[in-house]
Amino acid sequence: MSSFDIAIIGAGFGGIGAAVRLKQAGFDDFSVLEQSDDVGGVWCANTYPGLTCDIPSHLYSFSFALNPDWPDTFSSRQEIWAYLRSCTDRFGIRPHLRLGHKVHETTWDDREQCWRLSTTRGTFTARVVINAIGALSDPSIPDIPGLGSFQGTIFHSSRWRHDHDLTGRRVAVIGTGASAIQFIPQIAPQVGKLTVFQRTPPWVVPRRGRPISSMERLVYRNVPGAQRLVRAAIYWGRETMALGFLYPNLSRRAQQKAVAHLERQVPDPALRAKLTPAYGFGCKRVLLSNDYYPALVRDNVELVVDRIGQVRPHAVVTADGAEHAVDTIIFGTGFHVTDPAFPRYVRGPGGRTLADAWTPTMRSYLGTMVAGFPNLFLMLGPNTGLGHTSVVLMMESQLHHIIAALRHMQRTGTRAIAPVPEAQERFSAYIDAKLAGTVWTAGGCTSWYLDANGHSPSIWPGFANSFRRRLRRFQPADYQAAPVLKEV
Ligand code: NAP
Repeated sequence: MSSFDIAIIGAGFGGIGAAVRLKQAGFDDFSVLEQSDDVGGVWCANTYPGLTCDIPSHLYSFSFALNPDWPDTFSSRQEIWAYLRSCTDRFGIRPHLRLGHKVHETTWDDREQCWRLSTTRGTFTARVVINAIGALSDPSIPDIPGLGSFQGTIFHSSRWRHDHDLTGRRVAVIGTGASAIQFIPQIAPQVGKLTVFQRTPPWVVPRRGRPISSMERLVYRNVPGAQRLVRAAIYWGRETMALGFLYPNLSRRAQQKAVAHLERQVPDPALRAKLTPAYGFGCKRVLLSNDYYPALVRDNVELVVDRIGQVRPHAVVTADGAEHAVDTIIFGTGFHVTDPAFPRYVRGPGGRTLADAWTPTMRSYLGTMVAGFPNLFLMLGPNTGLGHTSVVLMMESQLHHIIAALRHMQRTGTRAIAPVPEAQERFSAYIDAKLAGTVWTAGGCTSWYLDANGHSPSIWPGFANSFRRRLRRFQPADYQAAPVLKEV
């Protein structure tokens, strides 16, 4: 059985970022266990047509690895994936990679004070685990009656079937979230008939992207600080956008702009009515698109807002009995964000699972550790999601904190630490107080930001900068050494 000091699970932005920062901080005994055969995480797995990041390129990248060569202000999947692969090479992470290693179970060994990771390619032990599997890796496909009887082709947006030619086909798209609104305009001109099943309309605003000129790139490459200055301007501009989510009254103008965008692009009042959200701007993720509404206006596209009742061998049937003949169903129905599977397979001291600890709702200390689970760090753990800016900023704040925790253990000769329950309770109370009155809890929608109890275990109710400030200092008093863990 191989053993290393630190195991990183996942080789997406979180995992690669963790590996680079560990190396830079002098922690060299680590491995990155990745289920797929390449790095990149969601940017490797998702290949649907039209996939582009809706966060500006200068911000959706590591602060320690700015890329002066982004060709566009918003990057495509190919460019981001290439960027992550180049970071892997540039920072010497490849020798640490164990690709094709899917982690099944992570179990704390009380006697040895380490984690045992059982994977598809054997078992490993590690003193510290950094879980960087991301929130968007487990596709959610609704359990629609009769789905198993469908005679055509079914796939989820994150598992795109490029071998299935859509030309001339009758295609159903279920869901109208961030992924669907990107691939619908791509496939609409190709298919014979496209039926889009919408449960809730999203707020959509214009996408203001543009190519980055070769002159700008030359400046970024050669003028010290130029790209950092642009990045800082984007960073602070984005931070002000959080105000509208925290204080919904301030988002009225943004909402009006979204309404104007809809009115400009959809002349038919009946279709416009179907596409007008009845909840606060930002309650669900605000989407950016210039070609989504025009795609819906096409003659071969139909928007269906009646609830889906069942699927038959060659049709999707809505609750009113209307049958929509299709030969392909594409699910753009998102991911298990608030009900992920992995907590069931993480067993802490005494065999208690993370799922037990997270019943009825996910709680954490600083979105990064959980009381009762020593040496387990969660990249993008509970309450680290953002609606207004780049999650890479959140990851970097976490990595700063994790390195500080590892250095503290090294300095004090402590093998394992976990947050004290009181510190976690204080943090949870802070989150709850901050969430009250924000658009996520008071905006009048249900979203994947909320769990079955109406609590938001995913969103950070503040600025990326306030998260950074909270995690900047490691407070030893908020942690205790294992095994003298208090009952939680
Ligand atoms: P999503 O935003 O969660 O959207 C899922 C869609 O499926 C929603 O329209 C939802 O309707 C619908 N849906 C879910 N269950 C349904 C059911 N049983 N029946 C009918 N409709 C159902 O998922 P996503 O579009 O895959 O995006 C997930 C996340 O990925 C995004 O929020 C974003 O964070 C990330 N993403 C980012 C980018 C980017 O550019 N950075 C691009 C794509 C995705 P309701 O609204 O009614 O629930």
